[in-house]
Amino acid sequence: MAGTFAERLVSAIASTHAVIDLDAYASNVQVMRNRLRKRGSELMMAVVKANAYGHGAVMCARTAVDAGADWLGVARIEEALLLRDHGITAPILVLGPLNPTLVTRAAQNDITVTIGSPDTLDRIQPFLAQIPDDTMLDVHLKIDSGMHRFGVHPHEASDVARDLQEEPKVRYSGLYTHFATADDGDDSFLNEQISRFTETVMELMPEGLAPSLIHVSNSAASIREAQLPDVLSPFTIMYRPGLALYGMSPSGDVPIPNEFHRVLTLKTRLGRVFRLEKGEGVSYGLTHVAKHPTICGTVPIGYGDGLDRHLSNRGWMSVKGRRCPIIGRVCMDQVVIDINNVSQPEEGDEVIVIGDGRSNTMTPEDAAAKIGTINYEVTTAILPRVPRIYMSYEDVVAVEDLNGLVEKP
Ligand SMILES: *Cc1c(COP(=O)(O)O)cnc(C)c1O
Repeated sequence: MAGTFAERLVSAIASTHAVIDLDAYASNVQVMRNRLRKRGSELMMAVVKANAYGHGAVMCARTAVDAGADWLGVARIEEALLLRDHGITAPILVLGPLNPTLVTRAAQNDITVTIGSPDTLDRIQPFLAQIPDDTMLDVHLKIDSGMHRFGVHPHEASDVARDLQEEPKVRYSGLYTHFATADDGDDSFLNEQISRFTETVMELMPEGLAPSLIHVSNSAASIREAQLPDVLSPFTIMYRPGLALYGMSPSGDVPIPNEFHRVLTLKTRLGRVFRLEKGEGVSYGLTHVAKHPTICGTVPIGYGDGLDRHLSNRGWMSVKGRRCPIIGRVCMDQVVIDINNVSQPEEGDEVIVIGDGRSNTMTPEDAAAKIGTINYEVTTAILPRVPRIYMSYEDVVAVEDLNGLVEKP
């Protein structure tokens, strides 16, 4: 039913699809790895949660590991299991609160989970009991150094760490924290968090409660080269970038350096070319009314694919290098663009929905600015209905659609 690789590729290219440049991604991983290594961070985790921010978790995870990432980061145990099911053997850390019922499977699949609350160990006890004799659950302890999202309070850290160490089914092997304001121009709170975390580590160390691996820093802190104090140099330090590896800027204050390249292009094709007469309206509610006769194109992409409905009458697409405004409302599966400035548009012509900004394409940052969100959400929103086409060395190496991932034979 699913079709061969070639059939699925032809079908994906013929309509809405996302092109993922794995060479750009690999290069970004290497660039970041080298930058971090120069500052004494021995290890790097590539964060591939939420389907690799929309870029496709399995192919990005594989590429990251091949390009030198030491660890992979995901948010849920299910995401880690998916990577294991696809043969990825690199260490994986689950960054978010854990699902107790999946703890046994996490242990059996060598997946590291986070303890970020003092109550979790009690809650997972019945599931720890089901872990086979020769297996343990690997855990990292997360400290809440000021973001107040997930992590144990510094005052609770030594009690929780001791419980973890005394639990026979648990191997306590890492200690970490997360910064709340690393993408901000002002680094005072970032420094505050670094010192709170450092103090906590220093309190745990003499009691033998600090494992040798400690990690910090998202993309923003990685790019800004947030520096850990020298007292932490006996530890193995790891950084955890996600967004930057996809070539996107953490914020206006922390732009992505030039050496990084964008990875994703979202494309579709004109599905109808027609003329709107002066005074005629477009799409639900007829919220756009033509001021003059306008050549329009309908494209098969909508909020059912992850194109935000707030882009109605605000966003734009690029056809033959021309900027083509979205007119009327974005529907679930379709939207209409003004292609009046495109020379000889025809049904089937390529339309770039999200690009790198060249040729009048709308970037994730452009879209985010229009709808009041961040670039993270724009790419992460791209749903599984949109096939991903993975490129390497100008060749398609894999296609992923609703039937799953298929690699080039
Ligand atoms: C998402 C996440 C990261 C990566 O953040 P980016 O801003 O994408 O680099 C790192 N650490 C934790 C705990 C996260 O949740």
